[in-house]
Amino acid sequence: MADYEVDYSEVAGRKIGCPEGCGMCCLCQPEVLPEEREFFRKNHPRSLVRVGSPEPHQALALKKGCGSCVFLNGRRCDVYDHRTAYCRQFPFHLYASDRVKVELDLSCRGVWDCPESDALAEAKDLVARAEPRIIPALEESQAVYREFYANCREAGVMSDPSRLRMSVSENISMFADVAYLSRIMDMSEIEPVMSLTGLSPETRLDMPSLEEAGRELAMESMSSGDPLNVPVYCDSGWNWNMFMTSGGKLRWKVMDDGGDLSEKGSADPEDIPLKVPDESGMKALADYVSTLNGRDSFMGSVFSMMDANGYEDDMANAYYGSLAVSVMDLLWRMSMLDHFMGVGCGAEGVKEAIIFYDMDRLDAPAIGAFI
Ligand code: SF4
Ligand code: SF4
Repeated sequence: MADYEVDYSEVAGRKIGCPEGCGMCCLCQPEVLPEEREFFRKNHPRSLVRVGSPEPHQALALKKGCGSCVFLNGRRCDVYDHRTAYCRQFPFHLYASDRVKVELDLSCRGVWDCPESDALAEAKDLVARAEPRIIPALEESQAVYREFYANCREAGVMSDPSRLRMSVSENISMFADVAYLSRIMDMSEIEPVMSLTGLSPETRLDMPSLEEAGRELAMESMSSGDPLNVPVYCDSGWNWNMFMTSGGKLRWKVMDDGGDLSEKGSADPEDIPLKVPDESGMKALADYVSTLNGRDSFMGSVFSMMDANGYEDDMANAYYGSLAVSVMDLLWRMSMLDHFMGVGCGAEGVKEAIIFYDMDRLDAPAIGAFI
């Protein structure tokens, strides 16, 4: 067994499964590793395509170039025994920073609604199988992290990441409360080095500007007309919902198994008010913030942003600000789902918003590597 640290805390104690009829992860074009190509070349030569980003690689073709994988048939996989490592891995994500962290994609309904198998046992098996890919990825990401920390120290913006996490854990309810969220977003922009201690909520909430901030964040991710580039929300009836903006309207579409889209409704984004979760919703939201706070990939995405901004932001400000911004994005998505589908603003509404949001969260650029 190789000598590296693997953190399983996100999956420990969870049960997961893959209910029939979903197929949502088959909308994400899986990479085909070199050792997997022979089967597809020999038996399904037209199923392999070259994809240019983030790095050029071979992947499985999609129906009509933008629907589900060509092998998804009646929501079942036609090549199940030969599906790629990435297909087998979902909904787990292995993220390499200066260690390996196993994370769970909460956009998968099997994580919530199908308590069949032990997630920890599956994760351990997955890590054992991925070992040949883990070691080189970890060496690379450890070097990137060392360089990143050196840059932070040189720029005077370094904080201790474990202390940042601890301060969020001790103040988790602040991140589920819009009154504090607006304060955190403001302070992270104004203060040279922000602290959560002593932070008080706004006495009067500026809902219009909060609403605007949440709307802008969520709409940015829906601004493409290409189904490959917009978030997918798989509802409890296994419909693949997509939301896209065009002509100033937010358009709700559903993709069928053949890759065709039909429009279900539309709204002026300005007519969707920001909803505040009720007590059970706040509890569910606090649990999600706690998950984000424990994720190395979330920390890695904050570091990626700091790197892109030329190390101008203090790490504490960037971290607290990013958490607040993520929650605002999620709340607006909950408001949007409630507007179109009536999911509500309690624990169920927050759960549906997490299902809508988490895949995008995990897709954010990060300085480490997804293995
Ligand atoms: S998203 Fe989850 S539940 Fe749906 S097909 Fe994939 S693994 Fe199964
Ligand atoms: S190979 Fe099978 S499991 Fe993988 S994306 Fe295609 S249909 Fe889904």
